[in-house]
Amino acid sequence: MGGDLTGRFWWREKIFRDFGHSYLVELVYEERALQKIQIFRNPTWGYFLVLDGIVQFTERDEFIYHETITYLPCSLLPHPPETVLIIGGGDGGVLRELQKIQGLKRVDQYEIDLLVFELCQKYFFKIAGNYEDNRVNFIIKDGLLGLKESPSEFYDLLIIDCTDPVGPAQSLYTKTFYEEAQRVLKPKGVFIQQASLPAYFPHVLTNAYRNIIEVFPYVKVARAFVPCYGEEIAFVLASKEPKDWTRAITKYFGKYYHPELNSYYFSLPANWYNYIK
Ligand code: SAM
Repeated sequence: MGGDLTGRFWWREKIFRDFGHSYLVELVYEERALQKIQIFRNPTWGYFLVLDGIVQFTERDEFIYHETITYLPCSLLPHPPETVLIIGGGDGGVLRELQKIQGLKRVDQYEIDLLVFELCQKYFFKIAGNYEDNRVNFIIKDGLLGLKESPSEFYDLLIIDCTDPVGPAQSLYTKTFYEEAQRVLKPKGVFIQQASLPAYFPHVLTNAYRNIIEVFPYVKVARAFVPCYGEEIAFVLASKEPKDWTRAITKYFGKYYHPELNSYYFSLPANWYNYIK
């Protein structure tokens, strides 16, 4: 299908069988390939990307997610990251934030779906970082396969900006994946991965946490409220050496992120502790 607008209609992101989030939209693009990709436009949220029925980000609030998944782990490194691996993130939002950091030398990125990348370059070019940058190696490949081919202890930072484990991202939440992640991370490095919305899908956080804690000695859960998700999203961070998680040792300032937020991100509601027992 092409980019014709089809008139306004109510589109629903199904959360449960009896509950969803409704948007009055115009369809901008739709194609069922590796994943079902939809791009909609809504007057409140702007353009937004949907993969397999799940809202990934909107123009209005994507900066909250992208700054969090980038700056929160960066703030825990002893120096700005020089070598970074992104898995997923085909929209380019994480790359955009990384490119604001002084001293960045190399970014490798494995994104499984070329169509996501191409469509985001077309419809979300204001959001995306610069893929012409010769420090960036963007490869269309499954993240686990890419990780297996990566050198040991090479990356300061691993950012797993993937979809929920329902489609091609399932392999990115397995123990094998975390073992490979552990192998390629430098001793002082930090790993971060999104782990869905615990209020609705707590099993994603539970499974990710259980697998990660078997592999990494230090694991911490963070939360952030991104309005279009309707609930707080979880992130799992991990490291090989202890970290003073709530203290930003390197300071970054974004539109949303600032160093004092670290203590907010890591203070969890009581019921979240049940998900990571
Ligand atoms: N902000 C998002 C959210 O809602 O959690 C994540 C957005 S980003 C668009 C997720 C990307 O992960 C997608 O482009 C998807 O193609 C990619 N992805 C999924 N499985 C993957 C895999 N096995 N290897 C590499 N990339 C993968």
